Amino acid sequence: MPSPRTQSPREAARTARMIRSVAPQPERQCFFCTSSHKFIDHKDAETLRRFMNFQMKIMPRRRTGLCALHQRALANAIKRARELGLLAYNLY
Ligand SMILES: [Zn+2]
Repeated sequence: MPSPRTQSPREAARTARMIRSVAPQPERQCFFCTSSHKFIDHKDAETLRRFMNFQMKIMPRRRTGLCALHQRALANAIKRARELGLLAYNLY
């Protein structure tokens, strides 16, 4: 394998991708699948806030670790909570 200095950025990205695919991945479990929440409550602003960043944006699935079903439901619940004034649309 060539040293990183001689690798092009494209090759370096490919190498990093290969290493990542081989490295053991931490087991990710959906918060709502594992918890006792029966559904995602749009009135429970405190729980919804956990899945928003400091700019009050909805965090992506790669950050939240939720399953597709719950990520979609979460996005809807956050949008509903924003309409009700329980959560902010943005920071300012
Ligand atoms: Zn889930």
